[in-house]
Amino acid sequence: MKLVLRGHHLLCLKGFQGYGYDEDFVENMIEVNSQRKLDTTTVSLTNEADDLCAHCPNLKNGLCKDDAHNETIRNMDDEVLKKIDPSIEYDSVKLFEKIDEIFTNEESVSNICFNCMWHEKCLFYQKLSNNR
Ligand code: SF4
Repeated sequence: MKLVLRGHHLLCLKGFQGYGYDEDFVENMIEVNSQRKLDTTTVSLTNEADDLCAHCPNLKNGLCKDDAHNETIRNMDDEVLKKIDPSIEYDSVKLFEKIDEIFTNEESVSNICFNCMWHEKCLFYQKLSNNR
């Protein structure tokens, strides 16, 4: 299995506990979250629409909502892609372990998570905010 994921979605998947925009989105999120834990799965990284966006009601003409909002989301992706080279295809399990090594406290995700509507419900963010 090959997954294509936006940079910031690596953090979202680690923090997922069942919330989402609608039923189809949540079902797909559950599926992708299972697939990313398999030894046979690889991940390519992007700052464009990915395998999660494909089932999201916010995706319009390949953009997250509109040009302005999409730019904000891309900036969140690029914050992650500055630290993880997007030209490489990764072993999924190792990639998600790497996330834990790179993002170790609330400050490390400040430019990525602070403006996200889900951060209070995100298990990954909650874990980091307890590491202050
Ligand atoms: S379209 Fe936007 S809100 Fe929906 S999953 Fe993609 S980045 Fe998130």
